[in-house]
Amino acid sequence: AKQKGGQAITVFNFNKHTNEVMNKPILERELRKAISRKELTLYFQPIVHVETSTVHFEALLRWFSPKLGTIPPDVFILVAEDRDFIQLIDEWVIEKACEFLRSLNDPKAKVAVNLSPKTLAAPSIESRLIEGVSEYGISAEQIELEITEHSLLKNEQAIIYKLSRLKEVGFSVAIDDFGVSNASLNYLRLLPVDKIKIDKVFIHNIEKETKEYHIVHSIISLARKLGLRVTAEGVETSKQAEMLLESKCDELQGYYFSKPVDEHSLPEAVKELQSRLKVLVNQ
Ligand code: C2E
Ligand code: MG
Ligand code: MG
Ligand code: MG
Repeated sequence: AKQKGGQAITVFNFNKHTNEVMNKPILERELRKAISRKELTLYFQPIVHVETSTVHFEALLRWFSPKLGTIPPDVFILVAEDRDFIQLIDEWVIEKACEFLRSLNDPKAKVAVNLSPKTLAAPSIESRLIEGVSEYGISAEQIELEITEHSLLKNEQAIIYKLSRLKEVGFSVAIDDFGVSNASLNYLRLLPVDKIKIDKVFIHNIEKETKEYHIVHSIISLARKLGLRVTAEGVETSKQAEMLLESKCDELQGYYFSKPVDEHSLPEAVKELQSRLKVLVNQ
């Protein structure tokens, strides 16, 4: 049965807890048109490097569909991965991130972009990245690539080789959502990376001497021994931030500092988080 726009709200049924989507064909059809219709936007979430009080940003994709409403990235990224057009989307994100960096006109500014494992596996991604930075007059050092853990190791040697080359030209590489995949330690062992981002499920419960606290503490000291930087994702309270600083976590990201915001709201968000940073550092 054909569904016309307007009824779509009832066609979809998002379950927040499972990210289950009914009616994937409509979602796919709309998503394929979303770029040219300018329905996609990049939001940016500040990541704080505490020691230097400097900030960089993670680019997070948002889709505001006039027909379907706001669809969370966890949902539509999966569809795009599943239907093999995630590369188009990731490349759009790379271009927008470059554009944003050019507009900042600050060689020290840095943006992290998420790359789906499928995008990373694509032969053309390397040249897209290299051409992207040169076209926009920025440097590879200004872009960090966030790689999620799942399924990467299918093509292990090729991925290791590709990441090494990208690092050689200046891009940095982070393992995203570290700890939730059963391959985490294997990633650490095999992949040439600069940073790990501890998944937010571990940060959630670290205020007391919980399992999570000990896991996070150990991941941080392991990372330091391997010469890697560490970011904690999902920092929501000052107490969590304190604990992480005590454990010598390099970078903090989460709602406590700022939610992801649009480009326009970013200066204000950064200004506000500076005040929270002062409180933390003076404690
Ligand atoms: P991620 O890369 O791990 O991004 C972090 C997610 O945690 C974001 O969700 C962010 O909004 C959320 N977050 C940040 N701080 C907090 C906090 O304090 N508490 C809680 N509860 N959540 C927090 P978001 O924006 O919904 O994105 C979800 C996932 O979608 C991302 O996880 C990433 O895997 C994927 N994604 C987003 N944009 C892109 C993209 O351009 N390309 C690809 N391939 N994937 C993307
Ligand atoms: Mg990420
Ligand atoms: Mg993550
Ligand atoms: Mg993720």
